Amino acid sequence: MSKILGIYVEVEISQKEPNDWEKNRYEDRLVEDIEEVDKFLEEVRGKLKDEERVIKKVKNILIKCDCGEEILCTGFTNECDNCNELYNRWGQQLAPRNQWGEDTGEVYYDI
Ligand SMILES: [Zn+2]
Repeated sequence: MSKILGIYVEVEISQKEPNDWEKNRYEDRLVEDIEEVDKFLEEVRGKLKDEERVIKKVKNILIKCDCGEEILCTGFTNECDNCNELYNRWGQQLAPRNQWGEDTGEVYYDI
């Protein structure tokens, strides 16, 4: 079975000029659960300077594939570069593509 390694959180922090996105900075962390995500966000907010604010938070599940490859699940389907195993947004293993639409209960529009 694949293993969930944690939640990879990335926050984008905007600087003084709202449209000057090149000056935005990022902080990221791999945490174990949702509570730790909140803790991390609090921490980031606590360190912000007056002119800074958090403008984007991205949470993605990081998993370890059966083959040992680490995969960050950023899309509806995520394919292992190494063994082509498929995972959904939440790191759950999906049936191989050639079985989609048969009796797996998966339909293409909710993947
Ligand atoms: Zn793999």
